[in-house]
Amino acid sequence: MPVARILFPLPLPEPFDYAIPVGLAVPEGAYVAAPLGKYERLGIVLEILPDSAGEGRKLKEVAHVYDAPPMPRSMRDFILWAAKYTVSHPGHVLGMVLRARAGLGPSPTETVYHLTGQEPLRLTEARSRLLAAAEELGPQTATALAAAAEVSSGVVKGLAEAGALRPEVVETDLPYTEPSPDLPGAVLTDEQAEAAKELTAAVASGGFHTFLIDGVTGSGKTEVYFEAIAEALRRDPEAQILVLLPEIALTQAILSRFEARFGAAPAPWHSGLSDKDRRRTWREVVHGRARIVIGARSALFLPYRRLKLIIIDEEHDGSYKQEDGVTYHARDMAVMRAKLEEAVVVLASATPALETMVNAELGRYTRLQLSARPGASRLPDVELVDLRRAPPERNHWLSPHLIRAMQETFEAGEQTLLFLNRRGYAPLVICKSCGERLKTPGTENWLTEHRYTGRLVCHVTGYSIPKPKTCPHCGAADSLMGVGPGVERVAEEVRVLMPEARIEIFSSDTAQGGEATRGIVDRMEQGEIDVLIGTQIVAKGHNFPNLTLVGVVDADSGMKGGDLRAGERTYQLLSQVAGRAGRAERPGRALVQTYAPDNPAMLALADNNRDGFLQIERDVRAELGLPPFGRLAAMILSAPSAEMVDQVAQEVIAQAPNGEGIEVFGPAPAPITVLRGRHRRRFLVKAPRNVDLSAYMAVWTTRLKLPNPVRMSVDIDPYSFL
Ligand code: ADP
Repeated sequence: MPVARILFPLPLPEPFDYAIPVGLAVPEGAYVAAPLGKYERLGIVLEILPDSAGEGRKLKEVAHVYDAPPMPRSMRDFILWAAKYTVSHPGHVLGMVLRARAGLGPSPTETVYHLTGQEPLRLTEARSRLLAAAEELGPQTATALAAAAEVSSGVVKGLAEAGALRPEVVETDLPYTEPSPDLPGAVLTDEQAEAAKELTAAVASGGFHTFLIDGVTGSGKTEVYFEAIAEALRRDPEAQILVLLPEIALTQAILSRFEARFGAAPAPWHSGLSDKDRRRTWREVVHGRARIVIGARSALFLPYRRLKLIIIDEEHDGSYKQEDGVTYHARDMAVMRAKLEEAVVVLASATPALETMVNAELGRYTRLQLSARPGASRLPDVELVDLRRAPPERNHWLSPHLIRAMQETFEAGEQTLLFLNRRGYAPLVICKSCGERLKTPGTENWLTEHRYTGRLVCHVTGYSIPKPKTCPHCGAADSLMGVGPGVERVAEEVRVLMPEARIEIFSSDTAQGGEATRGIVDRMEQGEIDVLIGTQIVAKGHNFPNLTLVGVVDADSGMKGGDLRAGERTYQLLSQVAGRAGRAERPGRALVQTYAPDNPAMLALADNNRDGFLQIERDVRAELGLPPFGRLAAMILSAPSAEMVDQVAQEVIAQAPNGEGIEVFGPAPAPITVLRGRHRRRFLVKAPRNVDLSAYMAVWTTRLKLPNPVRMSVDIDPYSFL
């Protein structure tokens, strides 16, 4: 009997072998059920071994093969590679792939009712209401019809028996509409057409190729990659295309652009989906019927049948880094994935990551440049406002210069966007009486005051309490005071300064879910808001034609802390925010408030000198041997008590293998020192570029015998350093 080597989506180090019973067809890559412990479990056949592999072994048998196309070899290889690279169990990675395994089965069904046109003999008030609802809503379930008509569902039954309604059993998860490549797109400018031509040529000829579309905000990067998508759809009727986007708030606006260009909405994939939509997308992906998938980083791990093109929009964005569980960077993984699939991968950004720029310079990626905004639209003028010279009033956050500009903008009937990357009212609450800083119990995380909800909230753990009347430390009454600005506080300041203006806040607190986000975006687009005060969710992808002033309230906030990418990230975020101004025919300007106008990131911003800035960053990193000129990995240990984790950390460091040029730093408190009651310590490992740091970490971690409550995780290419 041949043998199937099966990988289960469980944190087990190895796959297991099973006999394939006579009469059961089990191809490589099949989704199967097989007994493991007490249960039958879903797994993937990694490979089929010859009969001889089973000789003399008592193997359990594969129980069931699911009716789905087998997982392609390229995907299985990707799982194994990703596990190795991230120093995780392959089963753990498979778990991410099988996240919506309910999609393996056929779609559930439901009964909907159609009007037959036949009048029931007896027409009661309830019956007429129900028939009216059916007329208005079209075919619906009994529950939906009854709810709409405000009658009991027995009425539906009665009408069906009377012949006025006809039941039909339908699938709940419908396939996605096939996108069409041949609808007209924008008429491309010469520069755009040139870039599109290179992309489509690569898609047409097939094979692995990485591109970087390096184009200023609003230069039409999206229009250009749309051409690559159209070509992939056209060339190969089975090709699947994945578009990764950093924020779901952005997806809302871009979904309509996809619909307009391809005549159909793409299949979505992100954490906000309902179980039903998740199952639906997963099933359509596996069967190869979802042609375009648009999603968050985890969409990279879906088991596409034939993935031919991957787009990573805003490739520099920090949210591509997954920090929990299997830690990975979706951009880097996507390039490997494309290589295994022999696909084209397109990174797009106005402010590419240093890593990406270096790869482009080394010729690993083909760089396509878009230097102009189409039409009359110009890049905004950026001006630094030196807060040391002209500071805001005490306990205020807007400088006289910015206030004047806001008033002028308002008088001209144009819009202002104020950017401050802090949710809530004040990022810190202290007691005026005893000086206590309010923290989440058992941690060092400050509580943020949210006036809108009257609560104190921890943005790290989610812990929240109503704002106490007295200090929890000394008991003094009415002594708690918010320190520093959040968007709510800046809004308060603007309301006093500009009582006539219509002011709104745009942050993840005010825009939960697509609907609310769209509401704010629509109102802004239609000029119903004069001043929008937002966190980083405003930075991305929106085109507000009447927005001519962007004010950055605190440009320095992202620079604090020892993060190696702090400067780069500040530059990226601020230039993206500034790029919101003046998208249409009106010129825009950005005023950037800073106490450090000599900082290279600020100077580069003011001069619109991205490449000069990157050059400085590059020199520093090369000098220090930091990414992309060297490699970093982190190991995080956690335990219920600080004493325990400190003690174990000492034993762990003693086990670190020696390696040429490898340096191990730590233990030090982890970026989040206490998380869900666990104390965390971190080691940082630095190695030259040519060292296989994953392999080093694997050797180290397999040596460790950790006591039960201690947990360990590895983060290759860490991004949080605070
Ligand atoms: P980016 O992705 O580089 O920020 P977009 O593709 O979003 O740029 O383009 C910015 C705006 O300009 C969008 O509203 C887009 O529809 C418009 N646009 C881009 N290229 C063209 C073009 N060739 N003709 C007309 N409008 C265009």
